[in-house]
Amino acid sequence: MASVAFIGLGNMGGPMAKNLLAAGHSVCVFDLSTEACEALEAAGASVAASAAAATDGVEYVVSMLPAGKHVAGTYLGESGLLAQLNSDVTVLDCSTIDAATSREVGAAAEAMGIGFMDAPVSGGVAAAAAGTLTFMCGGSEETFLKARELLSAMGKNIFHAGPHGAGQVAKGCNNMLLAIHMLGTCEALEMGARNGLDPAVLSEIMLASSGRNWSLEVYNPYPGVMENAPASNDYQPGFMVDLMVKDLGLAMDIAKDAGVDNALGQLAQSLYEGHQAAGNGSRDFSSALERLRKPA
Ligand code: NAD
Repeated sequence: MASVAFIGLGNMGGPMAKNLLAAGHSVCVFDLSTEACEALEAAGASVAASAAAATDGVEYVVSMLPAGKHVAGTYLGESGLLAQLNSDVTVLDCSTIDAATSREVGAAAEAMGIGFMDAPVSGGVAAAAAGTLTFMCGGSEETFLKARELLSAMGKNIFHAGPHGAGQVAKGCNNMLLAIHMLGTCEALEMGARNGLDPAVLSEIMLASSGRNWSLEVYNPYPGVMENAPASNDYQPGFMVDLMVKDLGLAMDIAKDAGVDNALGQLAQSLYEGHQAAGNGSRDFSSALERLRKPA
């Protein structure tokens, strides 16, 4: 069993750290929130007074932070973690951030002989709690092989996407596609419903036809069609519109850097930004259906 420092114990990091404990790893945690640290202490973790103190003598560092600036601030610079870690430590940053920052931290780690991987996740809070996340990893083959067992305590699908930053690129591509097929699914269902079709019947038809997609399969946006979907629970998240807008912003950077004309992605971004501005930021992203249902 490994000794792990876990930095960032929010909605995702908290349950992920608990799954490491449940798998028998020894976990030392740090978060700016005392309350978040106390919840992990109650689950069996030790709590450190700083990120640096948490990493003292560990084999792995895992972080789950909000954005690129938090990751850069944690790892880079004279007072950052990389400057004080031994070269046999493996660092796994599971935050969803811009690929450029992941590459920068990855290169800095490599220059010090430290194995680093960006390892953003798909699956949300429920999958974090259930230990069924999908990890998309960017880093060397050697670091990937070293990290795989630890990640398997928190997720069930673990992919090596390529070098540093590739995990973030994979995540950006996936979430842009998710936004597009969710919006398309909302439009198709509303179109059918206003033409007198039962959305449940239409969903069955499209699931057995070429319109089949993940939003229809497990996350139907029409209220009442799928009992456990956020749509049937007043669009309680789930996956918040605010997070979708954040991820679409990252996806736009990825497309722009590569010179890809992602017209549908840009349209999805502007539709989700409008939905967010209308006061829906903390609702589930499938609430985009209401853009179509409410009278103008
Ligand atoms: P969150 O806001 O709930 O948690 C972030 C935590 O990081 C907070 O507890 C905060 O106190 C802590 N933190 C911030 N700066 C810190 C620092 N310098 N040192 C230590 N702790 C610090 O966010 P979350 O929902 O857990 O998301 C974390 C990451 O996972 C984000 O990058 C997000 O995009 C990604 N993600 C979230 C979901 C989701 O459904 N929530 C799904 C997939 C990926």
